[in-house]
Amino acid sequence: MFYISTRGHASKQGFCDILLEGLAPDGGLYLPEYYPALENPQQLGLRQVYETQGYAHLAFEILRLYIDDIPSDDLLALCKKTYTAEIFGSKAIAPVRDFEKNIFILELSNGPTLAFKDMAMQLLGNLFEYELNRRSAELNILGATSGDTGSAAEYAMRGKKGVRVFMTSPHGRMSKFQQAQMFSLQDPNIFNIAVEGVFDDCQDMVKAVSNDLEFKRHYKIGTVNSINWARLLAQVVYYFAAYFQVTKSNQERISFTVPSGNFGNVCAGHVARMMGLPIRHLVVATNENDVLDEFFRTGIYKVRTSSHTFETSSPSMDISKASNFERFIFDLTGRNADKTAQLFGPELIAKGQFSLANASFFTNAAQQFGFQSGKSTHQNRLDTIRAAAAQQGQILDPHTADGIKVAQDWAQADTPMVVLETALPIKFESTILEALGRRPDMPPKFAHLESLPQRVEVMTADVDRIKHFIETHCATP
Ligand SMILES: *Cc1c(COP(=O)(O)O)cnc(C)c1O
Repeated sequence: MFYISTRGHASKQGFCDILLEGLAPDGGLYLPEYYPALENPQQLGLRQVYETQGYAHLAFEILRLYIDDIPSDDLLALCKKTYTAEIFGSKAIAPVRDFEKNIFILELSNGPTLAFKDMAMQLLGNLFEYELNRRSAELNILGATSGDTGSAAEYAMRGKKGVRVFMTSPHGRMSKFQQAQMFSLQDPNIFNIAVEGVFDDCQDMVKAVSNDLEFKRHYKIGTVNSINWARLLAQVVYYFAAYFQVTKSNQERISFTVPSGNFGNVCAGHVARMMGLPIRHLVVATNENDVLDEFFRTGIYKVRTSSHTFETSSPSMDISKASNFERFIFDLTGRNADKTAQLFGPELIAKGQFSLANASFFTNAAQQFGFQSGKSTHQNRLDTIRAAAAQQGQILDPHTADGIKVAQDWAQADTPMVVLETALPIKFESTILEALGRRPDMPPKFAHLESLPQRVEVMTADVDRIKHFIETHCATP
């Protein structure tokens, strides 16, 4: 399997080459040359694999369709090492639970950092260690986080050979739980940097360092952001696992609702559907930052300025643009790289938006690709959390509540709807407190987290200081 750029760059790469890379050389995103199609008998095979051998084997069977530059035995070993009951809290790894009639919740947040990003990042950590060792190479991951991505990356990379993590976050702006999760890590290859500023200041510092090509090459700076194809691929697996749990035969269709920000998670659902998984609708749920909902309603994709990017109570979906969206537009335009390059290059840069409202492509988004969308506000979130506590006795995290709200708007009597649970409520307790007047229960294994000693470097938003910090700490093993 070769990987191509959404903007048409000529070179084709193998999986392990793009694993350690970010964007393609032309600024596009990598996608496989084609989506391996599942014929029904083979899909039946996958159901059996899942039911008799479990999640790790299912992951292996799906990943091997896209990865041919890691020997099978090694790939299976990596999957088995990643998807264990010890790391993900149950043998099912991603269990489905009932919510209400015909609406189900896919639990993706029982991993080390209690958000769905662990599902992909834990695999990425093992893939990185494997490939860096094979190449006798090293990587220094530099990132910016407002919470979930940074902690998932650190818990995936801690103690891994050949990898260091330098993670910036806005000083004092993450939840207490999120800070404790990250800053209590004592592993020598993990470095937390609290920047005096907001998230954008962190991101600007990371960009400035990455734009210094000399520094970047010398210190082997890399990223783990959500455009990484390996992360997306790992997420495809749980759409299959959910389908096999909710249905009895491969003739049935189901729909998914996905709380969305950067369009990574729901893009994995799109890939599963392209492979032939019988998905009827993929419903994109946004918060007040409704770039994606606007597109699916109107055909207009309009990037928000920072003054129009709101801080909401589902903060992990507070985005100004959806960084994985280009992958879907590439497919939507019939894999037209010139068109995609034109839309995301000059047009978006010059105007801050593009419109497909009058293109036949746009109708395809719903008709051919099954997309629908909706939006949820702070009030919707609170109402949904309250109703779920009262009627189902379940406490929803604010992002998952956005998903439930939009799922209820779109639910159809004849098609089961599965909502992806993207975090556990304990990560966002202030909103739970606001909705219910009480805090969610702390899972026992985190009872002492907030009292552990913390290790963090506080820094002004100064590019030279962070470079100096990286230089100094790259010398240590
Ligand atoms: C990252 C995240 C999202 C958004 O996922 P995307 O793949 O960026 O669309 C939603 N909810 C939570 C809790 C997250 O951490």
